[in-house]
Amino acid sequence: MSELVPITVARGDGIGPEIMDATLRVLQAAGARIAPEFIDIGEQQYLAGHSSGIAPEAWDSLRRTRVLLKGPITTPQGGGYKSLNVTIRKTLGLYANVRPCVSYAPFVRTLHPKMNLVIIRENEEDLYAGIEHRQTDEVYQCLKLITRPGCERIVRYAFEYARAHGRRKVTCMTKDNIMKMTDGLFHRVFDEIAPQYPEIETEHLIIDIGAARLATRPERFDVIVTPNLYGDILSDIAAELTGSVGLAPSANIGDHVAMFEAIHGSAPDIAGKGIANPSGLLLAAVMMLVHIGQPAVAETIHNAWLRTIEDGVHTAELHGTLSIGRPFGSMDFADAVIERLGQRPEQLAPVQYGTTPSAPGRAAGPRSAAANVPRRAPAAKALVGVDVFVHAAGVSADFLAGQLVALAVPPLGLQMITNRGVKVWPGGFPETFCTDHWRCRFVAAEATPVTHADIIALLQALVARGIDVIKTENLCTFDGERGFALGQGQ
Ligand code: NAD
Repeated sequence: MSELVPITVARGDGIGPEIMDATLRVLQAAGARIAPEFIDIGEQQYLAGHSSGIAPEAWDSLRRTRVLLKGPITTPQGGGYKSLNVTIRKTLGLYANVRPCVSYAPFVRTLHPKMNLVIIRENEEDLYAGIEHRQTDEVYQCLKLITRPGCERIVRYAFEYARAHGRRKVTCMTKDNIMKMTDGLFHRVFDEIAPQYPEIETEHLIIDIGAARLATRPERFDVIVTPNLYGDILSDIAAELTGSVGLAPSANIGDHVAMFEAIHGSAPDIAGKGIANPSGLLLAAVMMLVHIGQPAVAETIHNAWLRTIEDGVHTAELHGTLSIGRPFGSMDFADAVIERLGQRPEQLAPVQYGTTPSAPGRAAGPRSAAANVPRRAPAAKALVGVDVFVHAAGVSADFLAGQLVALAVPPLGLQMITNRGVKVWPGGFPETFCTDHWRCRFVAAEATPVTHADIIALLQALVARGIDVIKTENLCTFDGERGFALGQGQ
């Protein structure tokens, strides 16, 4: 028998302790070789003054074990409290959010009885970088950051996950018809990596039609890989479609640490009653066991759980016509799963993890394959101009252009002005609604080199004449390829 694997366990708030105790009871009965280390996170930590809901010393356990099984937590109302999940994801680099969404019809009521898909959401980038600014009286911005290494890691992770779990298709969803550079990169990386997995079918869907098809025909999907914001929304839709969010687990995977939890919250309305369904957390623990190299135990528990659901052993929120007896409490449900260890479902499809490679750091598998993204050699970068963003209220585009043309410092000259991305000079339309936020593009004549000093000289000239410069974006080419959008829809 191999050694016990240390894992960090956080019971959490509300129903957290009840469902965690039930989960650990099943793990222990199934022979999971784990040594839990308990840490406190959540409401009490927030109220004790830790603004992220986690005490500094708890990080030590996480760094040591590199695995967190987490109960849901209650985020106190009011300002000043940061999301613990976002803090953990970003601090520990948990770049892949993996959420299997499976229907258990007819035992759990759903309109989509054949649904069985996994959403793999990029977890660190996109609009979630938290870089937001108010720039003018009227305009606020949020930066959407998409990186090549970030895309490569998540796309490769999705393909490796599909391969390791015998999934046949990976669908990429982006909005690259509009965001050609950021979402375009995600799609391009998907197209670059896909041929390395010839046995896996691939497709790309624009997120709007993709989300619509997910909502109406989820059974056509297998693995979905998508940037952060779309994945956040899609995964809640998908979990809801299965018929109960109370059954859904999730894994947050990084190169060094992984976190496993149910997708639901701390359910304060039923906390302390012993009636919460521990299934979401138990299935998250199953994912954890696969991750730490104990797929056989994971398979035993998962199949016993399927058999339990199939036998009509249901907690209160699932109780219905196919349920036996009175609703089971959290611990009674756990005991019912334990009674069925070694059994397989008869109507629902059994799971098979026996040959699934475990996670790296411990063995080879999806995480290691995604971990070492080779960095490319830097491109030949050339500065060709600058976008100067200006706050100016109550002016027309032609008036502003007149000022800027007069102030331009060679080699830079004013090429165009846009307002909210719409070109308003030269040749603007009087009908275009304009705010107090102008993007003014200055470029040099073709093949004329531009330096940072040229940009500084331009900015000095503008500021000296009272132009309120909000920010600049350098315009560059990379290996001769334009590194900026030409304008709206181009
Ligand atoms: P919730 O998921 O806690 O509850 C929504 C509804 O689902 C409630 O009626 C609840 O009774 C029911 N429910 C949830 N889990 C259940 C289970 N296992 N068994 C039976 N019924 C269950 O969502 P909420 O009420 O919006 O949020 C409560 C708190 O949880 C908030 O403080 C929120 O910030 C937090 N939250 C935490 C996490 C997390 O830690 N990952 C996730 C979501 C919400």
